Amino acid sequence: MKSLKNFKTGDKLKIDSEDKGYTGILMPRSELADEKFIVIKMDSGYNIGIEREQIKNITLIKSEIKKEEFKLKKAVPDENKPKISILATGGTIASRIDYITGGVHSAFSADELISAVPELEEIANVSGRQIFNKFSENINPGDWIEIAREIYAQIKKGADGIVVAHGTDTMGYSAAALSFMLNTPVPVVITGAQRSSDRGSSDAAVNLIDAATVAAKQIFGGVFVVMHGESSDSFSLIHPGTKVKKLHSSRRDAFKTVNALPVGKVENGRVVYFKNSNSYKFFSGQKNKELKLDAKLEKKVALIKYFPGMNEDIIKNLIDRNYRGIVIEGTGLGHVNENLIDILRTAIDAKIPVFMTSQTMHGRVNMRVYATGRKLLNIGVISCEDMLSETAFVKLMWVLGHTRNHEKVREMMLTNYAGEISGKTNID
Ligand code: ASP
Repeated sequence: MKSLKNFKTGDKLKIDSEDKGYTGILMPRSELADEKFIVIKMDSGYNIGIEREQIKNITLIKSEIKKEEFKLKKAVPDENKPKISILATGGTIASRIDYITGGVHSAFSADELISAVPELEEIANVSGRQIFNKFSENINPGDWIEIAREIYAQIKKGADGIVVAHGTDTMGYSAAALSFMLNTPVPVVITGAQRSSDRGSSDAAVNLIDAATVAAKQIFGGVFVVMHGESSDSFSLIHPGTKVKKLHSSRRDAFKTVNALPVGKVENGRVVYFKNSNSYKFFSGQKNKELKLDAKLEKKVALIKYFPGMNEDIIKNLIDRNYRGIVIEGTGLGHVNENLIDILRTAIDAKIPVFMTSQTMHGRVNMRVYATGRKLLNIGVISCEDMLSETAFVKLMWVLGHTRNHEKVREMMLTNYAGEISGKTNID
């Protein structure tokens, strides 16, 4: 195995392995806690691990690349600009990799933010705060409540708009949760990044600037996601928080509004609304705009995807473990194998409401068309109309946080609180 004792973390190296040559900065071991690999950060920003057994030669190109001094600019308040508060929760958007230590840092004081993205100062008086620093796959329902409380506190203190920087993986769930928990007269805009800011192709700065633009300029409230609208930097889309989904694992324009049209877009620093979209009409027309926080959630709710061959064990287990509600992502118009009907009836008899969404994502659930659907309706399974599965799941948590009365649960689930159920849309 090739020895690394002549090289230090931070050294730029050329490494020749059996099949290829790599150039990059040596990262600390903790990156890939495995003795058999060394990790380098390549110019593209990607870290790669190279098996030490495979290394034939290592050449030093430059020793200890020094960490660039990050010069802090002082934020200068401007009375004529709106006040926005940027709240960081972690994820790729919040990460700035220190090339020397390999550690991930977040820069979220106002001074750090405007130093890193100076355009923010043109848009608003910015303040920044880190709520926590988690990749979004590690975010739990309790974290949604913490984020909602902080947003509420910032709006109470006078923020004209809020930006939440969030990991992209579960952004849709958090956006839906905040949509139900907050009634907000000012825009709450969630954004993130698919590529970290140390990569040439990063979308972090543009997403942050466009999200800040919506937070500062939009005159109606609600919870929205603002992310790249296409793979270049030309515009970002404003998605309703309850109808947005990450549809690609890596593209910069991974987020799409599903079963509706976006509220609008941000282009060249301007917000342009799609005035014919139901989403725009819903949010711009909402009357009851006073600030309210309603953060009660029942956490024992399950979202399960039906799969061919699924047997009743999964549902039986949920009943035995006292789950309070189930959302099933069924097939097509809202079906599961008829073999599951008995166990679903047992769940409903045990006062566990069962809701149906569709794996097709687009279109509405309609259980009246096929015999299986009608049987499911007969035992009391309830259609989620055109709600995204993630949204229906989060909404059921929120609804069950308020009532366990079956009729009330049904009624609340079928009430459109935050743009989650479209009437007939212009894209049906
Ligand atoms: N896994 C990361 C997260 O969701 C990805 C990202 O931030 O984009 O936090």
